[in-house]
Amino acid sequence: MRDVIVIGGGLAGAAAALRLADAGKTVTLIEARGRLGGRTYSRAGAGTVDMLEFGGGWITDWHARMKAHAARFGMDLRATLPVAARRWHDGQTLRTDTPVEPAQMPAWTDAMASIQAESLAMKGGGGRWQGDNPWRAMSFAAYMQAKALPEAVRREFIAWWTISGSGDITRVNVLDALHSAAHCGGTLQAMLEELSHTIEGGVGTLVARMVAGSGAEVILGDAVVEVTDRGDHVTLRLSSGAEAMARHVIVAVPVNAVGTMRFDPPLRPAQARLAAERHQGRALKMLLRVAGVQPGTLVTGEAEGLRLMFAERQLSDGSTLVIGFGLYDEVPDTSHAAMARAVQAFFPEGQLLSHDWHDWIRDPWSAGTWVSHGLGQSPLFAATEWARKGRLHFATSDIAARESGWFEGAVISGEEAAEAILDGRT
Ligand SMILES: Cc1cc2nc3c(=O)[nH]c(=O)nc-3n(C[C@H](O)[C@H](O)[C@H](O)COP(=O)(O)OP(=O)(O)OC[C@H]3O[C@@H](n4cnc5c(N)ncnc54)[C@H](O)[C@@H]3O)c2cc1C
Repeated sequence: MRDVIVIGGGLAGAAAALRLADAGKTVTLIEARGRLGGRTYSRAGAGTVDMLEFGGGWITDWHARMKAHAARFGMDLRATLPVAARRWHDGQTLRTDTPVEPAQMPAWTDAMASIQAESLAMKGGGGRWQGDNPWRAMSFAAYMQAKALPEAVRREFIAWWTISGSGDITRVNVLDALHSAAHCGGTLQAMLEELSHTIEGGVGTLVARMVAGSGAEVILGDAVVEVTDRGDHVTLRLSSGAEAMARHVIVAVPVNAVGTMRFDPPLRPAQARLAAERHQGRALKMLLRVAGVQPGTLVTGEAEGLRLMFAERQLSDGSTLVIGFGLYDEVPDTSHAAMARAVQAFFPEGQLLSHDWHDWIRDPWSAGTWVSHGLGQSPLFAATEWARKGRLHFATSDIAARESGWFEGAVISGEEAAEAILDGRT
């Protein structure tokens, strides 16, 4: 019998397997997909040989664990280009000087300053849900209404929402966006400034190297469908019909995929409720290979449902990689023609060569993007609800005690689950 089975080969599972193996435990890792990486997914695409990030890509300056793992497995960091040119699109006109007409600038500046003040007030307050923050129970849409934000500021805020809260604006708590902005200067653009690095060769490659480095036995392409805690060990049933057993199990799957398994004894009520309700992260990340666009250009606005585009870097064929973000439910048409129109609106000087993306929402092993907290859902993510249960431990960025939603949170939560086993707290 193995010491530990890790269910899920994303960053949380990889970090857990590595920590356990470093401590001499025997580990099997079972992954439903035919590849490791989970919501990191690095591969060539969009007609280029360059490694692109279909899932998460950026790390921040303070993500020390991610930096340490990259260094351990021989992967270099690539600094994100600073924003060299800024544009705003109001649905009709592309502006390159000021976000709005000069006459509207005072109202814009006031509204932005008040968002910034609220964002900064969250800093050091012990996290999103602590304290008596007045916006705790308010949706992003209700917040914008309560503050009577001018239309142009709403449009701008929603553009940044696609890389922060990222779900239905009427159902997701505004704190996700304010919290994201708080990290740097508290401005909306600070959200991009904090994305300081990517990993050369891809984060997915790093995950594969971490798993290989752990020496864990790996089963790919077979999902766990049943988890039974028998008191002194745990048995698993896989979709192939195979069975596996171990002294401990770490369930390292997204909360939106917990429902793919049946648990005996059943999950705690809060876990079961969150597994059924799911977190609300529904972003769409589009990779656009474009000719004639200067890397470092950032555009916010709205075109074909895409609300933020950043010309991230030059590719090896001389074209530019533009990363586009939108809300999944606002981008019904992802055809070449629609994406070419979006590029045309934001970059009239450019031409779309090809594009590519991954549908994380329809993918049953993620059923969402990064964690986003629906109204009233914050208690369901409480650490106590996801603490070990018998011989089961839970790990994923979605429920991480710190840096949830980020790669770093996945690593923290995977390592903490492994430590709990090593400490004998079972
Ligand atoms: C489009 C997008 C952009 C993002 N951008 C960033 C970013 O720039 N920076 C950042 O830090 N984070 C970003 N993130 C978030 C980051 O990718 C995730 O928080 C992190 O990778 C999650 O890791 P995890 O191990 O917790 O979960 P996952 O990576 O989802 O891994 C869970 C694994 O469990 C497997 N699984 C599920 N069910 C079963 C089952 N029944 N049996 C066996 N295996 C199962 C899944 O296939 C998956 O491989 C982004 C995410 C997305 C989708």
